[in-house]
Amino acid sequence: MYIRGLIEFTNYCKNDCLYCGIRRSNKNAERYRLEKSEILDCCKEGWKLGFRTFVLQGGEDGFYSVEKICGIVRGIKELFPDCAVTLSIGEKSRESYQAYFDAGADRYLLRHETADDDHYARLHPKELSAQNRRRCLYDLKEIGYQVGAGFMVGSPYQTADNLASDMMFIKDFKPHMVGIGPFVPHHDTPLANEKPGTLELTLFMLGLIRLTLPSVLLPATTALGTIDPQGREKGVLAGANVVMPNLSPMSVRNKYMLYDNKISTGSESAQSVDDLKKRMSQIGYDVVVDRGDAIKP
Ligand code: SAM
Repeated sequence: MYIRGLIEFTNYCKNDCLYCGIRRSNKNAERYRLEKSEILDCCKEGWKLGFRTFVLQGGEDGFYSVEKICGIVRGIKELFPDCAVTLSIGEKSRESYQAYFDAGADRYLLRHETADDDHYARLHPKELSAQNRRRCLYDLKEIGYQVGAGFMVGSPYQTADNLASDMMFIKDFKPHMVGIGPFVPHHDTPLANEKPGTLELTLFMLGLIRLTLPSVLLPATTALGTIDPQGREKGVLAGANVVMPNLSPMSVRNKYMLYDNKISTGSESAQSVDDLKKRMSQIGYDVVVDRGDAIKP
């Protein structure tokens, strides 16, 4: 099992995705941003705990210019040349992606969300398009990143056909990583009253992805751990081989609320990595201290 330290460094977002708790229209979200020094402190703590990949995730926050992101990436790489840096900061220009890569970023997570254009349009405001999201993924891959695509399971209006399209997209695009998790409603969004995705369907999709891309890096996600107390373990037994415990400062953890009841403590917390190791060893898996790079696309 590979572990990644997840640093949720801003919950400001210019986008208004209908399902997401940090969408710009959610006036009840308490917004925060981390300074470069705070991000580096998270990495220092994470390195001591055995993390060799740091994932910087955030809303699409214009405060973090290309120069700022590059400065943060360079800062992490200077302190920890043995670690991988993963960015997950949304849709950017090809030039920006190139600049982050040149600064030392190794990987990029950008879920395609749904491969069906009409379904995509029902979950997003009109200024966002499935085509641009895919353009980003192809740019990232061409530049040389290890790239993660992915989707929510059981998102509103999703059909079995849509999931088949997601599988065909993944088979064709061959991402190095695939992030999937159940849709979980957030009470302050337009989709608050929709049903959540199920554990069963998420596990089934994890299994299908593992069979389709045998060497892919596949996380048992926070959303899966949120809908079932044994979600992580069940995800691993279905084919997942990555977990991404939360390494954000305690003071901001309950502010990165993408959906209701999102977990960030217990074995979801990077500080409890020993507990996570114990839980994984109970189902026959070892957590390793390793960057955990992709083997091949
Ligand atoms: N802004 C970046 C981006 O667009 O990729 C990264 C942050 S975004 C909040 C990370 C992921 O959270 C999205 O790709 C989406 O799939 C997931 N997410 C957002 N709201 C969710 C919800 N209500 N239930 C489950 N997952 C959700």
